[in-house]
Amino acid sequence: MTRTRTQGRAQAASPDPYPPSTGAGAAALLAWYDRHRRRLPWRALPGEVADPYRVWLSEIMLQQTTVAAVGPYFTRFLSLFPNVAALADAPSEAVMRAWAGLGYYSRARNLHACAKAVMAAHGGRFPDTEEGLRALPGIGPYTAGAIAAIAFNRQAVAVDGNVERVMTRLHRIATPLPAAKVEVRAATLALLAPDRPGDFAQALMDLGATICTPTTPACGLCPWSGPCAARAQGDMLAFPVKAPKRARPLRHGSALWLVSGANVLLTRRPPKGLLGGMVALPGSSWTVTHRLDQPPPSPLPARLARLPGHAAHGFTHFDLHVSVWRGEVADGTPAPPDHWWEPLAGLAQAGLPTVFAKMAQLAIAAAPP
Ligand code: SF4
Repeated sequence: MTRTRTQGRAQAASPDPYPPSTGAGAAALLAWYDRHRRRLPWRALPGEVADPYRVWLSEIMLQQTTVAAVGPYFTRFLSLFPNVAALADAPSEAVMRAWAGLGYYSRARNLHACAKAVMAAHGGRFPDTEEGLRALPGIGPYTAGAIAAIAFNRQAVAVDGNVERVMTRLHRIATPLPAAKVEVRAATLALLAPDRPGDFAQALMDLGATICTPTTPACGLCPWSGPCAARAQGDMLAFPVKAPKRARPLRHGSALWLVSGANVLLTRRPPKGLLGGMVALPGSSWTVTHRLDQPPPSPLPARLARLPGHAAHGFTHFDLHVSVWRGEVADGTPAPPDHWWEPLAGLAQAGLPTVFAKMAQLAIAAAPP
């Protein structure tokens, strides 16, 4: 790590704000990790060899999702699909159903495509380099670095939000994210422990998740409290600097809650696009111009009445409000093409993504079955 200040770094009063040397910085972090590492369901124990399938599966699930939320999904996925061959052979509906509720459903589609590619092009073994991994569906720079380091002990780093927070504080990197990513990556690579890259990657993740937290960093417990530039200045919470967020547009839609006896009509989203391939309530498209008082199209003739309130959900690029409209058709009415009647008693197991589960909750609360 050079001691020359780059343009993006804030001035610090400390004469030596950087880790004393690459080796010393990494050694301090690894010594801390050996005492305080988190026990996680996908993580190999000390002395064990990491399983690339488990590492890959966990890293895909952990994108945009917390460790606490991923835990039960990871365990269930492993019991349903214990290895990459089992996942590749599974019907896509089974994979999407197992993913339902975890969000960001393109990850599930890519996960399935990646398993098939590993079987077809690599004989069931994951490539062991960042370059080889990045050629697979759904594996970007972060995930490739994480798998290469953790599963194959390659000289690679995995820079996520946790690592960005630690490194921008350690060096008081004042460049706003996401532009600072290049600087953060270079700083992380400069500190990398050459003999334990997998442990180094996991140690940095743990440090960011448990010590260098967003609002209450426990600097007194941190192995880098000595060289940390932000700690020296007392302005830890000023980092990372983030570019101002653009306001998310608000879209509206209308959903159909069509009941027949003790069943409700469901459909499946088109295979590509937002929530592609997922189970859904029929309804309108979601646009900024749609009005909540516009009823949804119905594939069966029925009188529709709007239920009170609306379901609200936040996606990455927009917020969504959806009105829910109830109708009823005679028991025994055949389902229209591309739809089916789902028993209301089993709706929780139908694989509805969270946004549709919210609409269903609204409908059930307004008119209990
Ligand atoms: S000393 Fe504090 S701010 Fe610096 S890396 Fe450690 S926990 Fe984060």
